[in-house]
Amino acid sequence: NRAKDGRVFYLNSLIIPIVIDGKVTNFVDLARDITKEIKHLETIENLSNMYATLSEVNQLLVYVKNEKEIYDKLVKIIINYAKFKVAYVALVDENNNLEIVAQNVQDNTYKPFLDFVKQQFSFLKDIDKNKVNLLKYPAYKSIKFKRVYIVNDTNIKDLIPFDKEASKFNLNSCCSIPIIRKNKAIGVIVGLSDKSGFFNKDIYNLLKEISLDLNYTLDSIEDNRWHNIINLAIESGYDFIGVLDKEFKLVYVNEAVEKITGYNKKELIGKHHSIFSSKTHTKEFSKLFYETLTSGKTFTDVIVYKTKDGKFFNAITTIIPYVEDNQVKYYIAVGKDITQERQLYEKINYLKNFDSLTSLPNRQAFLEFVDRFIKRAEIEKKIGAVVIINPVGFGNINKAYGYEIGDKLLKAIAKRLGSLIRQYDILAKLESDKFALLLKDLSFEEDSLIVVVNILNALSSPFDIDSKFISLSFNAGVSLFPKDAKDAKSLLEKAEIAITDAKEKGEGALGFYRQEVEDSAKRKVSLRHDIRKAITNREFICYYQPYFSINQKRLIGAECLLRWKKDGHIISPLEFIPFLEETGLILNVEDWLKNDVMEKIARRKVKIPISINISPISFKQRHFVDTLISTIKSYNIDPSLIVLEVLERTFIENIENFKKILYSIKSQNIKVALDDFGTGYSSLSYLSELPFDYIKIDMSFIQKILFDSKARSIVETIISLSHKLNIKTIAEGVEEQSQLDLLKHLECDAAQGYLFSKPLPEGEFEFLLKE
Ligand code: C2E
Ligand code: CA
Ligand code: CA
Repeated sequence: NRAKDGRVFYLNSLIIPIVIDGKVTNFVDLARDITKEIKHLETIENLSNMYATLSEVNQLLVYVKNEKEIYDKLVKIIINYAKFKVAYVALVDENNNLEIVAQNVQDNTYKPFLDFVKQQFSFLKDIDKNKVNLLKYPAYKSIKFKRVYIVNDTNIKDLIPFDKEASKFNLNSCCSIPIIRKNKAIGVIVGLSDKSGFFNKDIYNLLKEISLDLNYTLDSIEDNRWHNIINLAIESGYDFIGVLDKEFKLVYVNEAVEKITGYNKKELIGKHHSIFSSKTHTKEFSKLFYETLTSGKTFTDVIVYKTKDGKFFNAITTIIPYVEDNQVKYYIAVGKDITQERQLYEKINYLKNFDSLTSLPNRQAFLEFVDRFIKRAEIEKKIGAVVIINPVGFGNINKAYGYEIGDKLLKAIAKRLGSLIRQYDILAKLESDKFALLLKDLSFEEDSLIVVVNILNALSSPFDIDSKFISLSFNAGVSLFPKDAKDAKSLLEKAEIAITDAKEKGEGALGFYRQEVEDSAKRKVSLRHDIRKAITNREFICYYQPYFSINQKRLIGAECLLRWKKDGHIISPLEFIPFLEETGLILNVEDWLKNDVMEKIARRKVKIPISINISPISFKQRHFVDTLISTIKSYNIDPSLIVLEVLERTFIENIENFKKILYSIKSQNIKVALDDFGTGYSSLSYLSELPFDYIKIDMSFIQKILFDSKARSIVETIISLSHKLNIKTIAEGVEEQSQLDLLKHLECDAAQGYLFSKPLPEGEFEFLLKE
């Protein structure tokens, strides 16, 4: 029966006809509402139908491993076992469009309904889905939230796409079950029933179960598919793949491994991966290899392997640790044999970087060498030279003798050049007949001059080409690192400029990028030669510059200053002392000088202290103090007449050691002066620790003292501190009376400078002393 509100109810009725006079006059209807019981039975039936459905679905999932077939069978089961009237599977695409891929109906009367749904879906295709509330569709809701949705009364909910259409077909409840693959909703299964209120909690749970089972199956189908695809890729690819256990034993290899190494799978499985070891890698490489991998990181490099028959091959290999539960369980090695590529690369590289005629590096390669040198030289503070060497008129050789001889000549030049340079220098051939040299780690800039002059000399003797003696002259251009440029390209460019200039000077000429460098290099080269001679010829002499007490203007001592008397000229120590220091020749010269000074002191009647400048190099000699003491003793002079002038750089790096030496000098009563104070670090802090007798205030301060208040206060501070420490101060380079007056006011002890006297030659100084 139907109630006023449309609800269906069931009655169990006993209808008794009332018979009066043999005629039925009335009916008595004794009825009991049994709607509840009926519903209950219905529910039980529904539930058992659903169990049957689940079991069918599960059987289906066991034997069918193809999605389309699963969907087709699924809709059949839903109709036949769950007793739904309509069932369909719709899949969603990336544009959020639904398409029905499988469908079934209880009987043909429902077909138009399905057509209606399809129509709705295709309408949806053409409209902007942002403007539609997709969540009104149970299907979209299921897809979005990956959940089963049920609707127990399609009449009251204006469901899209069914709308009023569902109730027209007497489809009163529906459900939608998401299809999920790899955690992504790819579609829905929709079922419609004629029974309203069909879905209760138990059925809902069963639907969820169907959904889970289905999704699990779809996942495994997907996994299986990938497994097959990857297997195919692995087995048929050129790249080799191997899996190692955590002890680096092989547990899997693909066919490519067999092909490349010559071993078969049986021979390899269970073997340690060292079976492929070529033993060509360094210890550092192995260390990096194992450290990277055991710490769970991926390792990639070109590895050299050995095949079964002992051949080597290069493979770019990536090894990936497979980590489970924070532990490396396996290593997956993927590699590609690149032996051929490598050979090709080397060949290309060779062609790219080497001159094909002489096999020397070409311009490109040369620049790289220079670049590499510069990177190191910048750190190590090294000097280098780029030299371009070019034969004069090589075109004429080609014309006169032909190209074959020309080529042979170039090879011969290359060979000779190669024999003239040190092993670690670089010889390259630039374009046509131009050669380039990189001279590395030169001690002095002028060394480049010596090398190039030697090379040009050596190149001037004739070349024997097929018994033809060919003489050539060459030009050379030199640029220096770091003076002329600090990058490879500019260095080469500057050497080119230098050689262009050199060519103007004529055949056989060489040129430096900077004329002044060339001049000074030439000067220095001859200087070096001359100094060696000077020591043997005793061309060094001592000048003496006295210093005076500021108060009484009494001569209280003199500084011995080295001079070099060369061809009648007097050369300043500033010009040659740096060179003497760099070459160590300073030791010989100062040895001689100390003897000379002491010999003169011994002979002199008027005894005054003489200051000797000691270079840091001399001072750092191990037996410096011992030798000094024994020399003093041998001349039998008062040690307090000797003042050693030392520079801050003598001790600044190792004050503790210097302190020891200083005390041992002082214990002999020899005096020590700190020279050029104010020019170096000028830290006042060490003065208290180091017992100097004198501090010589550098002349740069004295020259500024009158007009530069900063210089003046520095001098003032030095003087007052020195006095507190019982050190005497000597002002250097005093040239004017007003400077002296100020120094006197500041209580400086002594002064030295042109105001009193220039450094004097021996004879004049002796004369001054007598006076
Ligand atoms: P220094 O030890 O500072 O010597 C003082 C320099 O100042 C001397 O230069 C001296 O001639 C110059 N001079 C002195 N008074 C004046 C002045 O009033 N005005 C100007 N403008 N200059 C003045 P010199 O003789 O050319 O020596 C230069 C440097 O060479 C010395 O500087 C010293 O560092 C070094 N030297 C000289 N002889 C030796 C030596 O035997 N051994 C070592 N290691 N170095 C020496
Ligand atoms: Ca000095
Ligand atoms: Ca000085």
